[in-house]
Amino acid sequence: MLDLLIKSAYLPEKGRPVDVGIRDGIIVDISANIQQEAKYTIHANGKIIFPSFANMHTHISMSLLRGLGADLPLMDWLQKVIWVLEGEFVSPEFVRDGALIGVAEAIRSGTTLFMDMYFFEEAVAEVAKEAGIRAGLGFGILDFPTKVAKSPEEYLKRAKDFIRTFKGEDLLFPVLCPHAVYTCSPETLKKALELAQEEDVYIHTHTAETQQEVEASVENFGKRPVEHLNSLGLLTEKTLMAHVVWTTQEERQLIKESGAKVLHCPESNLKLASGIAPISDYVKAGIHVCLGTDGPASNDNLDMLEELSLMVKLQKGANLDARSMDAKTALKIATEEGFRAVNIKAGKIEVGYEADLILLDPTGPHMQPLYDPIAQLVYSAKSSDIDTVICKGRVLMEKRELKTIDYQEVLFIAQKWKERIENFLRHRIYT
Ligand SMILES: [Zn+2]
Repeated sequence: MLDLLIKSAYLPEKGRPVDVGIRDGIIVDISANIQQEAKYTIHANGKIIFPSFANMHTHISMSLLRGLGADLPLMDWLQKVIWVLEGEFVSPEFVRDGALIGVAEAIRSGTTLFMDMYFFEEAVAEVAKEAGIRAGLGFGILDFPTKVAKSPEEYLKRAKDFIRTFKGEDLLFPVLCPHAVYTCSPETLKKALELAQEEDVYIHTHTAETQQEVEASVENFGKRPVEHLNSLGLLTEKTLMAHVVWTTQEERQLIKESGAKVLHCPESNLKLASGIAPISDYVKAGIHVCLGTDGPASNDNLDMLEELSLMVKLQKGANLDARSMDAKTALKIATEEGFRAVNIKAGKIEVGYEADLILLDPTGPHMQPLYDPIAQLVYSAKSSDIDTVICKGRVLMEKRELKTIDYQEVLFIAQKWKERIENFLRHRIYT
C-alpha cells in the first residue's frame, strides 16, 4: 500500500508522463502505470513534476517588515529602519506571526525547506511544524544585547539549550548563527564554533556581503572576511555562508578546500546594492553553491522561482557569456544542492529520494508551446503556475489550496501588524 500516488505527471528527464509512488515520505516507484493501491491519489494530468525548492538563507519572520525602508543601502536600511523596528517589536508573537505569513508564501511558491536565522526561533519551529515544512532553525548570535540575551555568553548558553530542545526532530533541525564578522568578535565566533562542533550542528552566517564589510574587516582584523573566518577555524564542511559577493581567488580556494557552502541571494544583493556574486566562477571552481532569497524585507519576497531565474540571467549578463550558467545547473542549485548542503536526500525525482516535489501547471499562455520543460521552468514559468507542493510525502498544497495553513488567519495577522507598525512609525515622525 502506497501513502501517496501521483498519476500521469510529466517527468522532464524521461520526456514522458509517469506515475510516482510514495511511501513513508520516500519515492518508492516511478513507472508508466503503477497499479498499487494508495491512501491518496493525485491526478496530475500532465502537469510537470520537479523537485521542490530549498531556500537556503532567509529571516522568514521579517515578512512583517516587507516593503519598509525600500531604496536604502544595506547599512542605512539596517540601522535606520530594520534594527529600530526589531528593537521595538520583535517578540515570540512577532516571530510566530511573521513566520506564518512567510511559510504560507514559501509553500505557495514551491519551497519545502528554508534555512532561517532570527530571534525566538522556537516560534518559527511551532509554525513550521504545524505547516509540515522543513526548517533549519537558526539561533542568532550577536555581540550586542537584544531581547534574547545581553552578552555573547548568554546568547551561547541559550543557543545550547535551544539546540538540545530541537535536536532529533523529523523536519526541523537546530543551526547556530553567529550573524557576521562585523557583529561578532573573533572570541564570539570561536566560541560559536566550539559549541557547533560539540553539538554537531551547522553554522550559518553572513559573509562578504558588501565591499564596506570587506574594508572594515581588513581594517579591524587585517584580513578579508573569508580569510578571517578561515584563520578562526570557521571554514568547515558544516559552514554555510550567505552572500559571499566579494572574494579573491585565494579566498575561493579556501572555500573550495574547506567544503564550506555558499548561499547565494541575488535579489537581495541587487536591491541593497551589495553587488553580483561571481556564482558561475564558484561553480566552475567546484564550490558547493546553494540559493536563497534572504529575508522577505530585502527582496521583497520568498519566491525561489524568481530568484532562480534572476540568478542564471545575472550570471550571463555579468559575464557577457550566455554559456556561463545553464537552466539545468540553476535548477540543481535551487533544489538538490540546497538539500545536499544539510545532508537531506531530496531535490531529485528518483527512487530512494525523499518526496519533496512540486507539480507545475504548464497550460498558461506564457508556457506554451512547451518544448523544453526545464528551460521553460527557469525562463518562462511563474510561481503561480505551481499547483501542488509535497514535503516528505505530505501534501502541503493542492490545486493552489494550502492544506496545512488557514489563509484567513494569515491575512488577519498581516493586518494586525500593519496597524501596530504604522502607528509606531507615525508616532516617531511626530514626536
Ligand atoms: Zn541575511
